[in-house]
Amino acid sequence: MNPKRLYLHTIGCQMNVYDSEQIAMQLAAIGYEQTATLDDADLIIVNTCTVRAKAEQKAFSFMGRLAKMKRHKKRLIIGVGGCVAQQEGQRILDRMPAIDLVFGTQAIDRIPHLIQQIETRHCRIVDVDMVETPDIPDSLVGRRKSSQVSKFVTIMRGCDNFCAYCVVPFVRGRETSRQPESIVREIKALVDNGVKEVTLLGQNVNSYGKNQNLCSFAELLAMINEIEGLLRIRFTTSHPKDLGTDLITGFRDITKLCSHIHLPVQSGSNRILKRMNRNYTREQYLDKVAELRDTCPQIAITSDIIVGFPGENETDFDQTLQLVEAVEFDGLFAFQYSDRPPAPAVKLPDKTSASIISDRLQEILAVQDQLTRSKNQQLVGSTQWVLTDGFSKKEAAGNSAGSHPSLQWTGRTSTNKIVNFYVEASIANNPNLTGKMVGVHIDKGYSHSLSGRAVNLEPSLRGLKGVENYAA
Ligand code: SAM
Ligand code: SF4
Repeated sequence: MNPKRLYLHTIGCQMNVYDSEQIAMQLAAIGYEQTATLDDADLIIVNTCTVRAKAEQKAFSFMGRLAKMKRHKKRLIIGVGGCVAQQEGQRILDRMPAIDLVFGTQAIDRIPHLIQQIETRHCRIVDVDMVETPDIPDSLVGRRKSSQVSKFVTIMRGCDNFCAYCVVPFVRGRETSRQPESIVREIKALVDNGVKEVTLLGQNVNSYGKNQNLCSFAELLAMINEIEGLLRIRFTTSHPKDLGTDLITGFRDITKLCSHIHLPVQSGSNRILKRMNRNYTREQYLDKVAELRDTCPQIAITSDIIVGFPGENETDFDQTLQLVEAVEFDGLFAFQYSDRPPAPAVKLPDKTSASIISDRLQEILAVQDQLTRSKNQQLVGSTQWVLTDGFSKKEAAGNSAGSHPSLQWTGRTSTNKIVNFYVEASIANNPNLTGKMVGVHIDKGYSHSLSGRAVNLEPSLRGLKGVENYAA
């Protein structure tokens, strides 16, 4: 019998990417094999995001496309999961007759049962019950297969912070951490399958373990650091109010921890930070940045900013611009504020007009673009350790006829900068560099990447801060 085919469409953050992998593994157990071709699918799952209005619009427009497809393929099963599903529940089934299943953010382990019911009874189901299942079943932990160098690992779910603009605590539930042993087991299995780098995911990793009296996040990092064969550890996201000295010194002492922190500031105005319920001031944020740079001078710092939060005036926005210029972030994600019910900011007066929001966004992005370009150009002439992901996109698309006859590879520095590089024949002939650490001499710095040439394919460990340490 032919296997049944699953097409998975993922919108949103890294956590959704991780959840989609869990969904695929759950469905593999009842005979579904993943396909990359929409038309081949017997089952289509859309994993949605509702953090910003645009992501939700994307989800509904994709569902509309699927509804048209189903007119010609009556037996097709369509499921919608993730944050929009959690939020909208039954309303999705009411609005879209083509959808068979709506499942919430805490229903992933129930998907096989739900799909089997639909297959046999041809019914339509909504399951948005918030039933905590913090840990992945042992049967799945060791089963993650991968051809990728770098993988996400969710270490905690939900959020207890209730920032005024944010829908996450409402659609992802209360903060719950996974057991450290389960996380370590999962990473070991990934490394056995060739993975070299993991990015640990949580809405606020600094409070890992606190609700359940597990170890601290810094202690978890130290445990993961011991995993043989793993080269690099990253994490996201860290909330500035909870970033403590133990994690800051971790950037110096935990040998595989990469020199990069994503530390969302959201605004540079104390008045707006208060209205956002962020629980830190601009001054406290700048102090943490200074402590990070004192402890780990090479650290790259990136951030998130929301422009046009209700009540943000010109002075508030100027303070945000000044903070961006003062910190000199290595990269910045700037978002236009959007109302996300039931987040409390929906009810705040003094909404900023769409045209002002759009102008402020352009202004802040232009400032950051200059900063990133100049930071990247400062690296020209240096040699950076790059963990190679594979061929660069240009190469993969078969467009290699550039100024260099050799293949273009791509990877990232410890500071999370993308580096595209080539290997001269005098260094090696057709080497397979995927998953390898390569010393790259940087020739050019752009706004979004660096480019250069490989100068060292056999990294010496001498002079680096620890054995097997390529994170420095
Ligand atoms: N937990 C992370 C933290 O505290 O920084 C962030 C998670 S959130 C999914 C990712 C980013 O989306 C936030 O840092 C914020 O900048 C942005 N965001 C969240 N809600 C938003 C809203 N209503 N409008 C615009 N941007 C928003
Ligand atoms: Fe949202 Fe704030 Fe929680 Fe981040 S910390 S997920 S921004 S509520």
